[in-house]
Amino acid sequence: MARPDEFTFAPLGGVGEIGMNLSIYGLGNRAQRSWLAVDLGVSFGDEEHLPGIDLIMPDIRFLEKEKKNLVGLVLTHAHEDHFGAIIDLWPKLGCPIYATKFSASLFAAKLAAERTTLKIPITEVPSGGSIDLGPFSVEFIPVAHSIPESHALAIRTSVGTVLHTGDWKIDPTPVVGPPTDEARLRQLGDEGVLALIGDSTNAVRDGRSPSEAEVAVSLAGLIKSAKGRVAVTTFASNVGRIRAVADAAKAAGREVVLVGRAMDRVAQVARETGHLDGVQSFRGPEYYGHFPPDKVLALCTGSQGEPRAALARIARDDHPEITLNKGDCVIFSSRTIPGNEKAVGSIINGLVTQGIEVITDRDHLVHVSGHPRRDELREMISWVRPQLLIPVHGEALHLNAHAKLARQMGVPKVMTCRNGDLIRLGPGDPAVIDQLPSGRLYKDGTILEQDTSRAVVERRKMAFAGCAFVALALTEAGELADDPEVDLVGMPENNTAGEPLEDIVFDAVVATVEGLPRARRRDPDSVAESVRRTVRSIVQAEWGKKPLCTVHVLTV
Ligand SMILES: [Zn+2]
Ligand SMILES: [Zn+2]
Repeated sequence: MARPDEFTFAPLGGVGEIGMNLSIYGLGNRAQRSWLAVDLGVSFGDEEHLPGIDLIMPDIRFLEKEKKNLVGLVLTHAHEDHFGAIIDLWPKLGCPIYATKFSASLFAAKLAAERTTLKIPITEVPSGGSIDLGPFSVEFIPVAHSIPESHALAIRTSVGTVLHTGDWKIDPTPVVGPPTDEARLRQLGDEGVLALIGDSTNAVRDGRSPSEAEVAVSLAGLIKSAKGRVAVTTFASNVGRIRAVADAAKAAGREVVLVGRAMDRVAQVARETGHLDGVQSFRGPEYYGHFPPDKVLALCTGSQGEPRAALARIARDDHPEITLNKGDCVIFSSRTIPGNEKAVGSIINGLVTQGIEVITDRDHLVHVSGHPRRDELREMISWVRPQLLIPVHGEALHLNAHAKLARQMGVPKVMTCRNGDLIRLGPGDPAVIDQLPSGRLYKDGTILEQDTSRAVVERRKMAFAGCAFVALALTEAGELADDPEVDLVGMPENNTAGEPLEDIVFDAVVATVEGLPRARRRDPDSVAESVRRTVRSIVQAEWGKKPLCTVHVLTV
């Protein structure tokens, strides 16, 4: 007798971390499963821990192996943590991709901006529409978020229905797009939902996230009362915010100048897809100087302090077209993502020093999160009434808070999991039934590397303690044929007594080689290892730090 089908779920990224989202759903049994992938996003590296790594992506070894059973990749929305890895990873999968119009168009614009001839087709699905993919039927249910066209996915199978929330909040007045479709989610709850896989980002925050419309009112007041020039920076993908700023500018009799490539790209896609209908047209930065200070507003990229983005250049007075002076105003309509505090702080300090007024979400309601707080999570649970809830999209703290809230709400089963856990959602009791290969890939320059790669570890060590290079030539009898070469990179020249470190290392290398028994001196590997140990410990004794050390031994 054939085994009954199981409905399974595995996060391959995005659990225990915020970023790099990739979830897969399976239908079948141990012998054969069909797979559906949801989202394929990136995380951003930080210079201190991962020097030289800009992007981190989920390891998709498992999906590559199961490629022939992968029925498609479905995108909830077009934030980088949900779709940023497609250009790099999709070529390994080659599966069909499905998304609604805005996400598909923004992806096409992003791909066109890359120096690549790669063609990656995305099939458009209407918002609110459904598609059948193998044994899965996927319905795109509109939810409010901080980018247009975010969707929760109702994934129906012969075993039951999952609601994969994607990123969402309850915002009755989202400025762009419809609010979260409460009626449809309640209907889904009436039909019966096996499991809810849900956004935990703000699960430690009480109450409700304020509406985008409240931010719009606050921005309008600030922009109206400004006397000089105004610059606003926000996440380029937040089209609702772009719209709110544009409307506020119009009400204050100001023209909007867009500054920064990402802002241009999103604005253009938003126009083409109808999300900026009725909004005044924007102007290029070349027009900025043509208007009196109180008749212009610059909408800029760079809210995270990115050094090459528009705002950082303006703050350094290094922008060819956009300048600010004493008495002008900069509004950060954004949140500083952890890790970027120093960069943002230095821009703010630079502006304040020039006498420019800086407004952030610490003093005014100029930003709201796109994720649900606790009262919103409770409401979602009460609409959908799942039998099982699995928190995702969060660090451990957020996942636990979401799980605890679900238990308090009386959800019959609540499970927390880790990237790589394969969970049977049904039939029967949910359980972790397997571990799938999972992990992280680093985008290092143009190369994708496993996170176990030595390159990053070595760079981090080198940044801290430099590197010593030693080259030796030995005769067949095991004597030094010439003076060793010693080269110290990234180290101080002298010790505290003023003696050159290079001389100290040189003497230690010679003494080590000459001190080795003759038999060992004939083994180049053994000589190299002894010299390496000596160099590292002598430098440590002289400097207090242990450098990397490479020793080459030639036999002549
Ligand atoms: Zn997200
Ligand atoms: Zn998002």
